[in-house]
Amino acid sequence: MPDIHPLGIRAKVLLSSVFGPYAQDDAYGSRKINPMELYHNQVTRFQGVFSLRMFHRSFGLLLIQSNIDAPCTLLDFPTRERFVEELQQQNYDIVGISGIIPNVRKVAEMCRLVRQMQPKATIVVGGHVTNAFDVASTVEADHFVKGDGVAWFRRFLGQEPAAPVRHPAIYSGFGMRILGYSPKEKPGDTAAVLMPSVGCPMGCNFCSTSALFGGKGHFVNFYETGDALFDVMQQIEQRIGIHSFFVLDENFLLHRKRALRLLELMQQNDKSWALYVFSSARVLESYDIEQLVGLGISWVWTGLEGNNASYAKLSHVDTRALVRKLQSHGIRVLGSTIIGLEEHRPEDMPEIIDYAVSHATDFHQFMLYTPNPGTALYEKHKADGSLLSSDEIDVADTHGQDRFSFRHPHIPAGWETRFLADAFMRDFEVNGPSLARLVRTQLAGWKRYHNHPDARIRRRIAWENRSLGTTYAGAVWAMDRWFKASGKPVAELSDLLADIQQHFGWQAKVLAPIIGMRLLMSMKAENRRLQEGITYEPETFFEKNPAAMALDRGLAGRHAPVEDTIRPVAVVTPAMA
Ligand code: SF4
Repeated sequence: MPDIHPLGIRAKVLLSSVFGPYAQDDAYGSRKINPMELYHNQVTRFQGVFSLRMFHRSFGLLLIQSNIDAPCTLLDFPTRERFVEELQQQNYDIVGISGIIPNVRKVAEMCRLVRQMQPKATIVVGGHVTNAFDVASTVEADHFVKGDGVAWFRRFLGQEPAAPVRHPAIYSGFGMRILGYSPKEKPGDTAAVLMPSVGCPMGCNFCSTSALFGGKGHFVNFYETGDALFDVMQQIEQRIGIHSFFVLDENFLLHRKRALRLLELMQQNDKSWALYVFSSARVLESYDIEQLVGLGISWVWTGLEGNNASYAKLSHVDTRALVRKLQSHGIRVLGSTIIGLEEHRPEDMPEIIDYAVSHATDFHQFMLYTPNPGTALYEKHKADGSLLSSDEIDVADTHGQDRFSFRHPHIPAGWETRFLADAFMRDFEVNGPSLARLVRTQLAGWKRYHNHPDARIRRRIAWENRSLGTTYAGAVWAMDRWFKASGKPVAELSDLLADIQQHFGWQAKVLAPIIGMRLLMSMKAENRRLQEGITYEPETFFEKNPAAMALDRGLAGRHAPVEDTIRPVAVVTPAMA
């Protein structure tokens, strides 16, 4: 195939994520245990009605769509029927499909459909699935793109690959649900997504995202400087009126110069943004707490890996002390622990799990140690012959929430499933619902900072805790009643409610039982639905970029060029089931 498409930016492009439904067991590799809900999938999955449920868009595809000048349509979370319908209704010159390795059969099926229905279209496959060891023989595509899809697509369409990256102005999540209740999301309530860089130079041997963008020592910076990042954040703020950013960067704070310049600009321009970031523990420790609070860091996703884990990102860090310190400043922590590291033995697992749980993070992700293709860990297991064959494990089950995909040196096959469940259950049993932990951390931050001399910090604290004396008080009241009714009262919940009421006075005292009663009813209804086996699926998104909309209006090649660094993405057809 040529390196540049003959039609250049006149080529009609369709980008799609893999088809759903996702939370069911089927022949295409969907698994009930592997829903399209990040938190419910691998963080709060054993918390029942307390589980945080929400969906996140396919950000990589949105970024590509925002950065190509060709008419581009995006289908996010289509059903197979909706994907077929699109191919029946429109001709495309290029069809791009992205997926993760457990979805390789869906990617293969979508490529088959494109070949059958639009044989002239160029098929491009991207995302983690490109690392699947047999992808070229099982998926019929013209190009497999590993790493930076923006630069690749621009090059393929004859655009300048290194041109400044335009950032889509999009919310980070949708369809949120907790306690059986879906809060009405007002514009500005949800964080915007911010993608400063992809990849992580730390290069931990199991890390797929680091490996996808070059591994140890490598990453791709979309915004090199704090000034460039601040500029794009300001534009997103103006465009969609947000107060917070979900920073989709493997290790945001590692880029210290950029982060500290961003802090300076936030101070100079009086910005009270809240940032939710991923960061390794050692990097977090390298910042003063004043810097983190000043930057608006209020949610951190950090790897704890496991007791004695020998990763550079954890060396000389007392992770339990770090978590306590962050929480005492109102910074919510999502810790991540791996079950089944090489040195783990069955007899040590209770102690390993207890150690993880003792961090008392607000949320705790547990994942099985998984050698994913593309990583150094995979190569090691391949070399020593310990990978399971496709006869021994279905690729759709290699998502890290069910079984090992290799023969563990000490843990007998199948035991890991139990250990993983034990970890989630123990965390829930000891630390309670994540929602209550989050409220406790937020209250600690509010107490410490609501009278802070810096108005910029006071404003963020007030905004982030605007529901503490109302909805959150009601949620704690409902959780308290729930556990009391089950015969297992949790003293910490009563104490937390009293603490909120002490600080938020009559409002929290009056509203907690009123809101709480309604939540209690929705929790009971949700509990019944969960017992009946209900699952949730994301809606389908169908979006066109300005060039595609111009083409629809018969103005091919005459749409106004978008010169700023933000590109709006228009939702042409909203939700479809
Ligand atoms: S520090 Fe985190 S993001 Fe970076 S390579 Fe290690 S696991 Fe991946």
